[in-house]
Amino acid sequence: MERTTADRHPVPDDGGDPACWLHRVCPACGRVADEDPPTRCASCGEEWTAD
Ligand SMILES: [Zn+2]
Repeated sequence: MERTTADRHPVPDDGGDPACWLHRVCPACGRVADEDPPTRCASCGEEWTAD
C-alpha cells in the first residue's frame, strides 16, 4: 500500500499539510498571518503576496 507513496509524495499528507499555511508565514519575522496573502503582517507590518 505504501510502496509508491514515498516516490510520489515526499511530504506525507496525513492530515496536516504544511503547504496550506506556509504561504502565510511572514518572510520578515516568521509570524503566521491570519489570512491568505496578499496581506500585511500584524506583528512587524511586512507586506507580501502569495507569490
Ligand atoms: Zn512579520
